[in-house]
Amino acid sequence: MKIICVGRNYVNHAKELNNPLPVEPILFMKPDTALVKGNKPFFYPDFSTNLHHELEMVVKICRVGKNIAENFAHRYYEEVTVGIDFTARDIQFKAQENGLPWETAKAFDNSAPVGTFIPKESLQDIHSLNFGLHINDKLVQSGNTSDMIFTFETLIAYASKFFTLQMGDLIFTGTPAGVGPVKPGDRLVADIEGKVLLDFGVK
Ligand code: MG
Repeated sequence: MKIICVGRNYVNHAKELNNPLPVEPILFMKPDTALVKGNKPFFYPDFSTNLHHELEMVVKICRVGKNIAENFAHRYYEEVTVGIDFTARDIQFKAQENGLPWETAKAFDNSAPVGTFIPKESLQDIHSLNFGLHINDKLVQSGNTSDMIFTFETLIAYASKFFTLQMGDLIFTGTPAGVGPVKPGDRLVADIEGKVLLDFGVK
């Protein structure tokens, strides 16, 4: 499986990092070794001193597709959850300054913890969902899917132009504002509409 991630999909987050708004989705990937399931602890890596959380809605692809039309894209995912796109911001900034790729900042081992997937049918309106991240019981990020620049369907259609989507592939759909550092000892708890789906510690 592969993990496709989307950069700058919320206006307020693009602004907080002083980035221009994208005219089409910005995609990057993480390998399957980035995935963490089952609320396992996250071990702070020794190559970064400025590791950031990015809370994101995650969709799981449920059938094979290539060049998917946007109006059929809803058929390609049945389940969603929340995940953390862990980012070594110090390495990312250095790469950006030099016009270099992001992989070591974004795609390292265990950089993609995901929560329990829930059927989208169990949610009232997939395009207007509140989701949030608490660190040590303090709300640090909250978003609503209605504020996405590109919808789940647009992202699926766009990504499938370049990459064949396969069952079990994940799409991290971008973070709202409020990204910030984590440290050993932190506990991260993420929810959709108040339902906790991800709960793990940083060691
Ligand atoms: Mg992200």
